[in-house]
Amino acid sequence: MLDKKGRNIDYLRVSLTDRCNLRCIYCMPEDGIDKICHEEILRFEEVEKVITACAALGVKKVRFTGGEPLVLKGLDKLIKHTASMPDINDISLTTNGMLLADMADDLKKAGLKRVNISLDTLQSDKFKKITRHGDINKVFSAIEKCLSLDMVPVKLNVVLMKNVNDDEIGDFIKLTMDSPIQVRFIELMPIGEGQKYFDKCSMKVEEIIERFPELVPIQDDSRVASVYKMPGAIGSIGLISPVSCKFCSDCNRIRLTSTGTIKPCLHSAEEINLKPYLNDEQKLIDVIKNAVYNKPEEHHLETEGKSDTDRMMFQIGG
Ligand code: SAM
Ligand code: SF4
Repeated sequence: MLDKKGRNIDYLRVSLTDRCNLRCIYCMPEDGIDKICHEEILRFEEVEKVITACAALGVKKVRFTGGEPLVLKGLDKLIKHTASMPDINDISLTTNGMLLADMADDLKKAGLKRVNISLDTLQSDKFKKITRHGDINKVFSAIEKCLSLDMVPVKLNVVLMKNVNDDEIGDFIKLTMDSPIQVRFIELMPIGEGQKYFDKCSMKVEEIIERFPELVPIQDDSRVASVYKMPGAIGSIGLISPVSCKFCSDCNRIRLTSTGTIKPCLHSAEEINLKPYLNDEQKLIDVIKNAVYNKPEEHHLETEGKSDTDRMMFQIGG
């Protein structure tokens, strides 16, 4: 489906919940969140209706995210149902990895192709500080498990933060030498809790190339990452610069929030509530088509220094 700028929107990111078993400092407030009541959250059958409508409009790729999608029971069934839709050819998941090692077999059987695991440090103490809860060994086990299941490349999302984890860039690059891992360094965005850290910690991913000039650019079909490799490495490095070098002109995605709204742009306040149309297949398709057509042209994060959306990242899914 084309928007009015001619961009082909074929990628749906589905945030299934705003709940999470971690409290990353740049994403969730320490005291947690006001819990949304269950009735407000889309049920999996309702999520399936939206995915079906999006597939009819040309969506081919679906990513499940959150909050933390693995805290939900029955995710494997949702993935299985999505995998059975003939138009959907790629299903992926973004997770903090805490529960993944035990669930990966079932998720793969259900049709999950790949995972992005968020991991901002390789140091246990620092991991506890950044996530306020997490046990890094569970994430390491999850990575090993996904590699053993050949769900490759395993992508590691690393939010790059000055004086927090920029001393570990070399250690992350080393992980790519012997394994099919893609380490994706992502610029911190001034959204939600991220605004508190933005002035102090933000840095451009370009600095990585300055510090590691031996990285060689390679061809990759990613729309958002510039991909590099260390000579001789099996894996690769992705640099994602949503702030300094935005990829709006090439954006192919829309987002579904767990409360049933479509967000045509991550950083725009605009949302379209799909709930009134869930029982009318054609109307649902029409409303989504219209939302996509009017997708905002671009965001203004760099010039305005903050996102226009009032939602936090855990409510959108990244
Ligand atoms: N809980 C899952 C996880 O952490 O992977 C999925 C949801 S999380 C909101 C999705 C991604 O957004 C994570 O990789 C996280 O690091 C990233 N994220 C959250 N807040 C961010 C911010 N302010 N700037 C950049 N990335 C952010
Ligand atoms: Fe939870 Fe993911 Fe946000 Fe961390 S980044 S608090 S794991 S939703």
